[in-house]
Amino acid sequence: MSMSGGYTEKILVIDLEKQKINVEKTNLDDAKLFIGAKGLGAKYLIDHLPKGTDPLSPGNILIFTTGPLTGTHAQTSGRGTVVTKSPLTGLFVDSHFGGVFAAEMKKAGWDFIVVKNKAEKPVYIVIKDDNVEFKDASKLWGKECLETHNFLQKTEGKMKTAVIGPAGENLVKIACITFDGHRHAGRGGTGAVMGSKNLKAITVSGTKKIPLHNEKAFNEKAKEVLKQIQENSFIPIRRKYGTPYWVQVINSEGFIPTRNYTEGYFEYGEEINAETMQQRIVDSGGACYNCVIACWNKSSIKQGPFKGTSLIGPEYETIALMGSNLGLESIEDVAYVCDRCNELGMDTISMGGILGFTIEAYNKGIITKRDLDGIEIGWGKPVELSKLMEAIAYRKNKTTRLLGEGIKTASETLNAEDFAVHCKGMDLPGYDPRGVFGMGLAYATSDRGACHQRAWTVRAELNDPELDRFSFEKKAKIVKEVQDERAAFFSLVLCDFAPISEEHCVEMWNLATGFDHNVESYLKCGERIWNLIRVFNLREGLPPGSDKLPPRLFKEPFTKGPAKGILLNEKDFENSLQEYYTLRGWDEKGVPTIEKLKELNLENYSKMVR
Ligand code: SF4
Repeated sequence: MSMSGGYTEKILVIDLEKQKINVEKTNLDDAKLFIGAKGLGAKYLIDHLPKGTDPLSPGNILIFTTGPLTGTHAQTSGRGTVVTKSPLTGLFVDSHFGGVFAAEMKKAGWDFIVVKNKAEKPVYIVIKDDNVEFKDASKLWGKECLETHNFLQKTEGKMKTAVIGPAGENLVKIACITFDGHRHAGRGGTGAVMGSKNLKAITVSGTKKIPLHNEKAFNEKAKEVLKQIQENSFIPIRRKYGTPYWVQVINSEGFIPTRNYTEGYFEYGEEINAETMQQRIVDSGGACYNCVIACWNKSSIKQGPFKGTSLIGPEYETIALMGSNLGLESIEDVAYVCDRCNELGMDTISMGGILGFTIEAYNKGIITKRDLDGIEIGWGKPVELSKLMEAIAYRKNKTTRLLGEGIKTASETLNAEDFAVHCKGMDLPGYDPRGVFGMGLAYATSDRGACHQRAWTVRAELNDPELDRFSFEKKAKIVKEVQDERAAFFSLVLCDFAPISEEHCVEMWNLATGFDHNVESYLKCGERIWNLIRVFNLREGLPPGSDKLPPRLFKEPFTKGPAKGILLNEKDFENSLQEYYTLRGWDEKGVPTIEKLKELNLENYSKMVR
């Protein structure tokens, strides 16, 4: 099968042990079924990674993926996706990033960059179109993320970068990969996988034209989509405030994570919301590659002990998890802690979860000052919490090493699972399900552990008069349908914040590639991708009964705010989960049936789950 666009049809496979490269051909038959990025990356992973591979062993593979729209004139087409087996959850992970790196990778001629094995000593890789060089990274090892990016820009020229910080080097399981200095593939510990391979950074530059099947019609369609985005009434708000817009909304509705999810309303909410952020720290906006939405906040701290710190952000999730969840009472404190976490190279959501858990364990006497080498942590203490983050990033002692293993391992070891807030080992994002029940089902069934991006039901649950946000009723169908749609969308791959209809997605995909999909077959691709990842997770040992929620959500009601007194009910949750399994064509244990796998052209994988 031969097509004429959307894909470069080339995969760069880098063997770090042999310091050799190999070029594979992108499988276009697979591309038609799995689209690209998340979906095609999942297909590559399940076909190439032996079952049971230790995520931090040389045998794991780290895949940087693009999709058929990456680098084109489609709005928000600078997105890319890192796919690997997660050291945090032991399951599939796809972690998405903005910036320019992915578009540049495509212009260099690569659909995927696949990194295999482990270098003997720290290295970084320089990719200029077809030319790939391995370079000694011993001078870079130990440097923080922005410092590494700046060093590479100076020594290698204005290239796009993917780097890890000290946390990735030290195999901290919530380590991220940072792109172009400021954008992050945050979730699931992809940075630790990179560190386990002794790979400090990749730089890329490309000069090639991205092939398109019908370039003229594609660009016209992209213009039409641009116009629709510009006319969308929410875009000016998103551009002005970015994701922090949601701080005020979620806090006033009573489900922002507060002090390790003990409350859903934060009394200092106005000190950390978007208006305050604009007044006190935001200097200007900015955007990823080819994005008219331009939701970035370029910020700097202008007063107090952290004056002079500059960063892009913080985003909503960071403000929720590292702000209200840690009891930080000013936007400057949140920005400082966020910046330290970014520079050490860790996911701010998971770090907020782990710090919240650790403060509670400390207050209960389960973790002591001595365990933390004298750091006196508590709610609202940015300096001490930053010291603790550093101790985790550098794995300084037995306790901080344990915290660096992630919340599941830490809470099991400390016998403190009743206040560990995670699903499948991944910390919950910024929407407490006690205020929006649909997010509970979305977190429990997400393909990579607790994730808000797989099915964000918040807007619908708050605004749709047909939906009761304090009930599981009607949520299973919404969650299933949104998961499938997002799986397809994240395979094209575009930005979660771009309001682009399914029809437009399919039209652009067809014009880019020459494929002949319609909305139904496009959504079927999403369902296929979701099922393939479920098969991968089951193959890797996901036990029955894993689609569950943290106990706190069923036992401890909030004492204030609009969701005061509300609890999830175990029976209602289980009923909703079974309804979800039925809608998915899975059995009562959440295993895809043979019939469902056949319907999705996945019959070759049925032996992996039976
Ligand atoms: S909406 Fe924001 S995050 Fe998304 S591509 Fe545009 S600038 Fe980047």
